[in-house]
Amino acid sequence: MKINIIGGGPAGLYFAILMKKADAGHQIRIYERNGPDDTFGWGVVFSGKTLANLRAADEVSHADITKEFEAWDNVDVVHRQTKVSIHGNSFSGIARLQLLKILQRRAEELGVEIKFHSEIHDVESLRHDCDLLLAADGVNSTVRLRYAEQFQPELDIRANRYIWYGTHQLFHGLTLTFRENSAGVFAAHSYKFSPTTSTFIVECDPQTWSKAGLEQMNSEETLDYVGDVFAQDLNGHKLLSNNSKWINFLLVRNRKWFFENVVLIGDALHTAHFSIGSGTKLAIEDAIALAESFRQHTEVSEALDHFEKSRRPVIEDYQAAAFESMRWFENAAQYMNLRPIELAYVLMTRSGRVSYDDLKRRDPAFIAQYELGHGLHE
Ligand SMILES: Cc1cc2nc3c(=O)[nH]c(=O)nc-3n(C[C@H](O)[C@H](O)[C@H](O)COP(=O)(O)OP(=O)(O)OC[C@H]3O[C@@H](n4cnc5c(N)ncnc54)[C@H](O)[C@@H]3O)c2cc1C
Repeated sequence: MKINIIGGGPAGLYFAILMKKADAGHQIRIYERNGPDDTFGWGVVFSGKTLANLRAADEVSHADITKEFEAWDNVDVVHRQTKVSIHGNSFSGIARLQLLKILQRRAEELGVEIKFHSEIHDVESLRHDCDLLLAADGVNSTVRLRYAEQFQPELDIRANRYIWYGTHQLFHGLTLTFRENSAGVFAAHSYKFSPTTSTFIVECDPQTWSKAGLEQMNSEETLDYVGDVFAQDLNGHKLLSNNSKWINFLLVRNRKWFFENVVLIGDALHTAHFSIGSGTKLAIEDAIALAESFRQHTEVSEALDHFEKSRRPVIEDYQAAAFESMRWFENAAQYMNLRPIELAYVLMTRSGRVSYDDLKRRDPAFIAQYELGHGLHE
């Protein structure tokens, strides 16, 4: 089979690896507009369950990925002067660039051709030149736009603003920090993803953003402002920018997932708010599901139909949980009157996927503390 892939992110690379592993005779070419070392952002997170899926799909890349991991089991919620830790949550962080390098190397070893610095504008020609065109071209997908009539995308630009920074302050665990100033409430989502660096994503509602005057600030001023808001959490370390800009989260859904020989996967197909840390997981698991559909069906149309039918319920379930989590952060200001232990509890249960019983099993000490309603000194 001849497969053209637009986008050398986690989804495109992982699908190429699995298809080439299944049949070395497939001719697979990835078109990626960036170079092999260019990337945006900092680290990404995987849960323990995702790692098990990665091992089952491809042990070689799993071994390389886990060598680079920073693992933790705590979620820390910081509110006022108190940090509440909730244990029993298995997560790992890795630099996005590191992950891409591992997948690029593995794909090339297997014989996948990766054409870097190749931005695709003429999607139609590329699709006529192959049996399968995989659109793994991310949240602002050119392919989804080109065939909008076929895919019928539903795009929802959310009101909150967020910005993705790094820092050398190390946050051991997924740390959710809330800070208030005269403009409003700022929330930071941070975690260590290498021995020296943490991801530090800051989010606020549009009123806070305007009142703080962030629209008028340049990159330096923004960095200083946000650094001041979280000064006590950064412990003297600076925030690091990687072309970081304030953006609005774009919620992506598509009524149709494929037509003829073209299929969307990863962020091009769906997004889930970063507060549940699932974008890369879902992209890679899409690739696993699609490769499995091709294992079961040799006809492209049958494989794509199987992919959509089997995968759509899983994605809809994730997007529903991510939606609740996103709404919680959009309304974070209304929870700021809660005591830290109460805030930690409502935060842990916000998506409807983690219950009181789950928390009691994972961290009985946390639940005991929550039920007592005291025991922490502010
Ligand atoms: C603030 C923030 C925090 C996040 N945190 C996490 C997290 O903690 N955990 C997590 O798992 N995920 C996280 N994500 C999500 C994650 O980055 C994405 O969900 C994931 O990378 C999706 O993979 P993908 O392969 O579908 O798309 P991408 O990784 O976006 O890859 C698409 C690729 O296609 C290329 N491309 C696009 N158009 C063209 C074209 N026309 N021609 C050629 N190439 C093209 C791009 O250069 C890019 O390399 C976060 C995202 C954001 C914005």
